Amino acid sequence: MTVRTRFAPSPTGFLHIGGARTALYNWLYARRHGGSFLLRVEDTDAERSTAESMRVILDGLRWLGLDWDEGPGAGGPHVPYFQSERREIYDRYLAKLDAAGLVYEDEGAIRFRVPDKILTVSDLVCGEVSTNLKEAGSRRYDAELKREVEANPDLVIRRPNGGYIFHFVNVVDDLEMGITHVIRGEDHLSNTPKHLALFGALGATPPRFAHIPLNLNPSGTKMSKRDQGALIHEYQEGGFLPSGVANYMALLGWSAKDDQEIFSMAELVERFDLSGVNSSNSKFDYGKCRWVNGEHLKRLAPAELAGQAAPFLAKAGIDPADPRVPEALGLARERVQTLAELPGIIGTIFADAATYDEAAVAKVKERADLPQTITALETAFAATDEWTAEGIKAAVQSAAEGLGSKMGALMLPCRVATTGSASGADLAPMLALLGKEAVLRRLREFVGQIS
Ligand code: GLU
Repeated sequence: MTVRTRFAPSPTGFLHIGGARTALYNWLYARRHGGSFLLRVEDTDAERSTAESMRVILDGLRWLGLDWDEGPGAGGPHVPYFQSERREIYDRYLAKLDAAGLVYEDEGAIRFRVPDKILTVSDLVCGEVSTNLKEAGSRRYDAELKREVEANPDLVIRRPNGGYIFHFVNVVDDLEMGITHVIRGEDHLSNTPKHLALFGALGATPPRFAHIPLNLNPSGTKMSKRDQGALIHEYQEGGFLPSGVANYMALLGWSAKDDQEIFSMAELVERFDLSGVNSSNSKFDYGKCRWVNGEHLKRLAPAELAGQAAPFLAKAGIDPADPRVPEALGLARERVQTLAELPGIIGTIFADAATYDEAAVAKVKERADLPQTITALETAFAATDEWTAEGIKAAVQSAAEGLGSKMGALMLPCRVATTGSASGADLAPMLALLGKEAVLRRLREFVGQIS
């Protein structure tokens, strides 16, 4: 059997992390088993579906690298992949149910006669869930009367206005498109007996189901679009790497048997399986997501890092084509978790002057010998012919000796005077990139400021 999975978003909002995780799991499962991943757009709700939402979802999937073999833009044997354009197919399936006497009209709506029998979902994640739809649907709670009342258990599959209901079109399309595995959020588990009943009525073997646990926010409630880290486009704008976000999403509900946490996309494809999906809800942790991303940044090849960082550098006024950029990025990459943080670390190398952090200046000003220290550094640097990290360190060492001090004691004043900040990347290589002239100029300007 060739695996066929699908992501079936309703284009009514942004691509959020729960939906993207569902897409990822379907994609990983298909890729791992050499199958196909489909994108099907469930846009039967014309009032809530928007082109803008569609664009955001497609952009998000592309950014994450979740390419689809069939669907919008990719075509495939089941075009169109938009449910709003598949009405004739649904009419045809409705006619089948009608011919079998399994549907009837009720005040303009079409109802499907649910079977009076126990239906068991054998979920690959949640285990077995059994329901008799006839019994379960025969009563409903009436909010006005504040008590249970009798209800018609038969499922409305078409509204009086002619619009088809989600359950019906979802099942017809999974059947038509030959979907073998339905991997989706646990919020759909309670719908699945209805889907099994429809598959049965259409004489079809249902696909395998795997309902993945919900993704909760840190306070333990369902994650909403207002929670930090909820929307995929914000990761892109915030300087996350697609592989980092995908890695973190994979961990939200799945774990490898050996507890490895950092995976490339290729490793995820190799390792992901439904048996590793947890049945309990997962809690979103933005700090961990940032950490995972930082680990991916460290592993990026230099050329790729430069490419990914370019828009963030340009936005901060740093020319990505500056020949010092690759080395500067090499110095900064260990210290950041997102691309957006890179300019903050290396920006001073490309700036005309240092921007002084008041607290950092105040800290070094506590030293009575600060002017002499800076002057000694300036003299030692001026005498250095070899303007490399090694040469710079040797110069600081000789300035320290001249002052009867230790090299370590000179590093902070040197850092603050030349970069304006009390922290940052390794100082000597930073100063090598900044250039001798710029370093001497900044030291002189700093002496002027403090004396
Ligand atoms: N359109 C449904 C949703 O977005 C898809 C459910 C499913 O994957 O079957 O929740």
